[in-house]
Amino acid sequence: MLNIIIFGPPGAGKGTQSEFIKEKYNLTYISTGQILREEMAAETEIGLKVKEIISKGGLASDEIVAAIIDKFIASHADANGFLFDGYPRTVKQAEILEDLFKKYNICLSGVLSLEVPEDILVERMLERGKTSGRADDNIESIRYRFVEYDNKTKPVLDFYQQKNALHAINGVGTIEEIFGKICNVIDKI
Ligand code: AMP
Repeated sequence: MLNIIIFGPPGAGKGTQSEFIKEKYNLTYISTGQILREEMAAETEIGLKVKEIISKGGLASDEIVAAIIDKFIASHADANGFLFDGYPRTVKQAEILEDLFKKYNICLSGVLSLEVPEDILVERMLERGKTSGRADDNIESIRYRFVEYDNKTKPVLDFYQQKNALHAINGVGTIEEIFGKICNVIDKI
């Protein structure tokens, strides 16, 4: 059973590559960003709580996203394996995920870290902003998402490095090229 985390800064291509990975390896996909956007669109209690912080480019609270992940895993007990996109984003979330893995008897196969220079990331996100309709794909929010990434998310890399679970992948190139590199890594896990 494969259980993979796709990791990387905002705009690294996690969502795009996840589409291909989940198909090829028959994984159940969970994107906390996508779920939070659905909650916001439906104006649920969670959605209303996170709306302001997300549109500014900040992170939702660890408790809120942990509850989302817990509920999702519990309701997909028959999954062949999971692909986590955008979670964990803090060391606290990584620790919570360890506990959830124990609770549900899941074993982490590996963390794929997409590496892309910041100028390319900004360019990609501004381009995406033209059609995504996302409140956080504007230059101020993008800048703040990088601040949050540097301060809170980057330390997650060390967390998984220490567990020998981290696989760095160059995230610059065509979608097909990057997917090829990802498959090479997954096939060796
Ligand atoms: P994404 O779609 O992964 O780029 O996430 C979009 C936004 O949702 C992020 O900038 C955060 O505001 C929020 N978000 C998504 N995942 C998390 C998470 N694991 N922890 C906190 N906030 C999150």
